[in-house]
Amino acid sequence: MKRFLVVGNWKMNGLSATNADLLGALLRPSPTRDRVDIAVCVPAPYLAQAQLICQGSDLVWGAQDVSAHESGAYTGEVSAAMLHDFKARYVLVGHSERRQYHGESSSVVAAKAQRALAKGITPIVCVGETLQEREAGQTEDVVKRQLAAVIQQVGHCASEIVVAYEPVWAIGTGRTASPEHAQAVHALLRAQLSAATANAQSIHLLYGGSMNASNAASLLAQPDIDGGLVGGASLKPLDFLAIVAAAQAL
Ligand code: PEP
Repeated sequence: MKRFLVVGNWKMNGLSATNADLLGALLRPSPTRDRVDIAVCVPAPYLAQAQLICQGSDLVWGAQDVSAHESGAYTGEVSAAMLHDFKARYVLVGHSERRQYHGESSSVVAAKAQRALAKGITPIVCVGETLQEREAGQTEDVVKRQLAAVIQQVGHCASEIVVAYEPVWAIGTGRTASPEHAQAVHALLRAQLSAATANAQSIHLLYGGSMNASNAASLLAQPDIDGGLVGGASLKPLDFLAIVAAAQAL
C-alpha cells in the first residue's frame, strides 16, 4: 500500500510565537496517520525551534533552500552541513520562486541537490512550467529538462530524491492542475526516473500548486501522485491536517 508524503512549505511566513502555535496544533493527538509522513519546511532561522518542538514526534522538519557551496565566503547562504546540524530531514531545491526571483538555473539546483544528499538530507526537487510555457505546449520539455539536470548530477543517488511537480501558474493562485494533467506529468517524470534508477517506483512524486482540503483527495488518488507540497494551506493547521487526512483515507 502506498505511503504518502505531505510537506508544508511555509515560505517567508511565521514568527516564533505563531510557529509554536502552528507546530503545536500539528502535534496535537490526532487520528492515526500511519499511511502519511508529514514534514514542514520552515524558514532557516526557525530550524532550531522546529527541532526543539518536533523532535521525538512523527512531524519532521526541513529547510526551503541550501547553498550550492560547501562552506566559506558566501555571505547570507546556509550550507547543507548547517541544515544537518539542526537535523533537517528535507530541503526544497529549485522552488519556482527561487528560479524566478533569484535566477537559479537547473545546474545550480542540481548542485544544491547534491550538497544536500552528501549530508544525508533529502532534496525535494521542484520542477514545473510557467503559464507561458504551458500555453506554448512546452510542459513536457521544461520539466524533463529541469529533472534531467539533477539526475545527471546526482547519478545513482537519484533514487534518494523527492520530486515535486509544481506548475508555476498554480502556485499561490488558487488554480490547480486537473488530476489528469498532474497525473500525466507525474507519469512522465516517473518514466524519466525509471530510466535512471531501478528504484523509481519508490521515489515520492509530490504535486504542488494550490492544493487544499477540497482538491487533495482527487489529486492524491492518482497512481503517480504520492503526496503534496503545500504552501498557503500549510499555514492553517486545520487545512493542512485535512490534506493529511485525505491522504490517510485513500
Ligand atoms: C508552494 O509554494 O510550494 C506551493 C505549492 O504553494 P501553494 O500551495 O500556496 O500554491
